[in-house]
Amino acid sequence: MKERIIGLINEFVKEYKSEKDTFTDWESPLVAFADAHDPLFLKLKEAVSKTHKLPTEFLRKAETVISYFLPFQEETVMSNVGGKYCSKEWAIAYIETNRLIMDLNNFLAQELSKIGFESRVLPPTHNFNTEKLISDWSHKHVAFIAGLGRLGFHRMLITEKGCCGRLGSLITSAKIEPTKRPNKEFCLYMHNGSCMECVKKCTFGALKEDLYDRHKCYRVCLLNADFHSEVGFADVCGKCACGVPCSFTNPVK
Ligand code: SF4
Ligand code: SF4
Repeated sequence: MKERIIGLINEFVKEYKSEKDTFTDWESPLVAFADAHDPLFLKLKEAVSKTHKLPTEFLRKAETVISYFLPFQEETVMSNVGGKYCSKEWAIAYIETNRLIMDLNNFLAQELSKIGFESRVLPPTHNFNTEKLISDWSHKHVAFIAGLGRLGFHRMLITEKGCCGRLGSLITSAKIEPTKRPNKEFCLYMHNGSCMECVKKCTFGALKEDLYDRHKCYRVCLLNADFHSEVGFADVCGKCACGVPCSFTNPVK
């Protein structure tokens, strides 16, 4: 089952550009599986936000959470190094990847239903309270629980293929063996106190050595959404993730 799901995700992503004629292309995805009853889901609800749902609150028969990372290609990432606004390529990649995640989740749900399993498809983003900026399902934290990577100082997930890309997840009643969580940090700062390149990249004062101001960060994202309104609603920035040691890889390895 595990190999089948990984194969389906890989195949879907590989064909997506030519099938949908997207501007963006993606590197091959990373996939991980969490036990829907993992106690960390309850901890997440208690520690991060009471509004965060447990997998079983979305799907009563939940057994597994499938989490995946869709890495952007190098050109997309390098286009977003420097400058005030995010690059047009980055804005388009954000929008097209959100669509890809919805399409991929619907496809996976269909495939799983053919073999008798239920699924709950979660939207890639915009499932958060716009005042408190807290969501009912954090793909980033879910990906951490599933063992897809570790959180970086810039508050993004760093995977074995870096942090430049997008995360998606799906809850299913299929029981799939969970992935082992990595027990070492992937961020250089968390590992040995070095780096902080991400802080230098945030020229907006949202990410500093001693604070992360998510409201300031989101205001920057909204400026980008205005600036790139012709491509859709790209409330994204990502300057702290581009052109840094963890952009494409786990730098601690
Ligand atoms: S740029 Fe350096 S300090 Fe910042 S998240 Fe990446 S590895 Fe960690
Ligand atoms: S996404 Fe942009 S505004 Fe937010 S912390 Fe990173 S560089 Fe700063």
